Amino acid sequence: MRLFDSHCHLQDARFDKDRKEVLKRASAAGVAAVVVCGEDLASSKAAIALADQSVHPSILPAIGFHPHEAAGATDAALINIQKLAASSQVSAIGEIGLDFYREMAPRHVQRSVFDAQLAIASDMSLPVSIHSRDAEEDLRPHLVPFASKSPLKAQGRPLGVLHAFGGTLRQASEYAELGFLISLTCSAGYPRNSEARRIAANLPFSSLLIETDSPALPPQSSRGTRNEPANLRIVAEVVAEARGVAVDLVATATTANAEALLGEVAEKKVSP
Ligand SMILES: [Zn+2]
Repeated sequence: MRLFDSHCHLQDARFDKDRKEVLKRASAAGVAAVVVCGEDLASSKAAIALADQSVHPSILPAIGFHPHEAAGATDAALINIQKLAASSQVSAIGEIGLDFYREMAPRHVQRSVFDAQLAIASDMSLPVSIHSRDAEEDLRPHLVPFASKSPLKAQGRPLGVLHAFGGTLRQASEYAELGFLISLTCSAGYPRNSEARRIAANLPFSSLLIETDSPALPPQSSRGTRNEPANLRIVAEVVAEARGVAVDLVATATTANAEALLGEVAEKKVSP
């Protein structure tokens, strides 16, 4: 089985002591590749540094300012993101987006930093990894113009991914129509999260991704602990059960979708 963790934060200090072991366990669990997402300039550079090492699973860096960090995304910092994005190692701009739940930066700042980073992605022909919390509808005025501008559309590639999607099946379907993939985490297995299981069961296979968002969102059986990419298999199992299909089928479909999303960088780095 080849699994693809489409979103995690392996550069996080919580992995400093045992990152090698964590990667080994991921590999043993069938994880062929992981996308490591930045949240500010330092963590974006750390994601690129991790990807420089030739390890298994393959590490694909994504860079950008998380909405929590939007206040720190000065013009100079965004120019730096643009320069880093020109590095052929970078697979996506992310994670970027809107968080109106914790609202750690004013909404208008989050919106303008989000737009600036969508413009970088468009300029560099890169997909985006999007965070939204209590802001699923608010994404729309940003993503509709991005969808019409992104050069990925003409290439028939997905434009980005709505990571750890917490909206409804209706919203998921609308964003899928617009050209985005929808990614589910171990939280799809939490007892109260029946909407995520509805998405897992009903969204076309071609629009689904899976991720761990490690070290966040551990599986139900180990809530409150650090999550790691080896647990990706649990997400695949939750999706398989919701759809009534074999877990291998989920692995094959979501890995192919991740490779289509990440394009050349994935082709170069991820061995079959
Ligand atoms: Zn994340």
